[in-house]
Amino acid sequence: MKNKPNMKPGIKAHPNLLTLVGDTPLIKLNRIVEGFPGNFFAKWEAYNPGHSNKDRIALHIIEEAEHKGLLKENTTIIETTSGNTGFSLAMVSMIKGYNCILAVSSKSSEDKINMLRSMGATVYVCPANVKADDPRSYYQVAKRIHNETKDSIYINQYFNELNTEAHYNSTGPEIWEQTNGEITHLVACSGTGGTISGCARYLKEQNPNIRIIGVDAYGSVLKKYHETHELDTKEIYPYRIEGLGKNLIPTATDFDVIDEFIKVTDEESAHTARETTRKEGIFVGYTSGAAVQAIKQLNEVGEFTKDSNVVAIFPDHGSRYMSKIYNDQWMKDQGFFDTDNAQQPNKVEYI
Ligand code: PMP
Repeated sequence: MKNKPNMKPGIKAHPNLLTLVGDTPLIKLNRIVEGFPGNFFAKWEAYNPGHSNKDRIALHIIEEAEHKGLLKENTTIIETTSGNTGFSLAMVSMIKGYNCILAVSSKSSEDKINMLRSMGATVYVCPANVKADDPRSYYQVAKRIHNETKDSIYINQYFNELNTEAHYNSTGPEIWEQTNGEITHLVACSGTGGTISGCARYLKEQNPNIRIIGVDAYGSVLKKYHETHELDTKEIYPYRIEGLGKNLIPTATDFDVIDEFIKVTDEESAHTARETTRKEGIFVGYTSGAAVQAIKQLNEVGEFTKDSNVVAIFPDHGSRYMSKIYNDQWMKDQGFFDTDNAQQPNKVEYI
């Protein structure tokens, strides 16, 4: 480790950012769930130092590799992601003194690529419209760099059991404790499935009656796979929400501990994210909006009673979506202001 804790007694400082990972707050939702029976809470993962739930897995996977003696100073950490996992891996690598290489798709916004570079990662931008087995795809580029780089590890979050374990060890127990064991429902967007599966495993061990509800996107295979155990490629088409749903079946997802998947649309999730921010004052990311949208849909079908204690995972911060759901032009370009019930943007007045 580069920065060894070296703190004088009495000094109340963290040795570095990494001791701030986890222990995120649980926040009661009020106006966005007005009139719904039960109590609703957000597990606010943007409180992690890298502003998302992915700090937990980045730290856990890297520290497990350290315990196994796999990492040396200047080892290279490799992953295929432009999203939150990339940023968290870059942050943990930077603090611990490892190199970080991220292979990302050319679909990634310039902002995202710049964020990763700012945190010290080397970024390879790979063409988006090639098959996964094409040597130029970001999967193949990451694998090649891993094979060619002495002292490197490949994180492989979709197929890494340590991803799920990170949430089994931390997020799940935190939620159990913060709800005093009274949680009745967990609502979580599923991407790799690490968050929902790790939390669900822990929570079901405490109380098997807790309902675990995964949130999936239209255009993703997860819900259908959960119901039929078959990967139906006809379910796959492009969608806009980043971070939930998938076009393959990740082994990091434990489908047996998830009771139900519910699908949400890009449009309703975007509006619900904006509405959540405006009603709760929590500046939420796109998938937090998707989780609240799922709660709205579940409420409509009578899922909750006055005794329900529902926890929704809010994975990241709204500031990551300034050029998307919080940008009115982007919303217009998607056609998200076309429908009658769509919330119109606030006015801007230039003086
Ligand atoms: N929301 C966002 C914004 C994410 O980046 C992710 C991770 N892909 C998720 C939700 C889903 O988390 P998980 O991968 O643990 O299922």
